[in-house]
Amino acid sequence: MKRIAIVGAGIAGLTLDRELGNSADITLFEKYHRAGGRMSHRTLGDFSFDHGAQYFTARSKPFQDFLDPFIRSGLVAEWQPRVFTLAPGEKRL
Ligand SMILES: Cc1cc2nc3c(=O)[nH]c(=O)nc-3n(C[C@H](O)[C@H](O)[C@H](O)COP(=O)(O)OP(=O)(O)OC[C@H]3O[C@@H](n4cnc5c(N)ncnc54)[C@H](O)[C@@H]3O)c2cc1C
Repeated sequence: MKRIAIVGAGIAGLTLDRELGNSADITLFEKYHRAGGRMSHRTLGDFSFDHGAQYFTARSKPFQDFLDPFIRSGLVAEWQPRVFTLAPGEKRL
């Protein structure tokens, strides 16, 4: 079995790991303390902040088909954002 190193546990590295599956002996290296790369988020108390990708769009049929099982399993869902625009100095909790 081929041994493959994947550098980076962002969406690209994680997808490659998933796609290669059991066909290779894979080691995934990540320099940060958790996976996600620019799709990860940070938490502060009860709040969660996206500091990269907030959403993605699925325009093509192949990508929509790819997403179907994730939607059915509840891992992917339509985003219903609560968006606020704060005036300078305004606070909202
Ligand atoms: C502010 C912001 C908003 C965005 N909004 C959207 C959006 O709304 N919709 C959308 O589709 N996309 C959005 N994007 C783009 C999207 O986040 C990226 O295109 C995507 O996450 C990139 O994934 P990637 O796996 O290619 O790279 P990354 O997510 O950058 O992953 C690379 C990983 O490799 C690791 N790494 C790097 N060097 C090493 C090393 N030497 N050793 C070990 N690990 C290493 C990093 O720590 C990281 O985890 C946004 C990006 C930003 C920054």
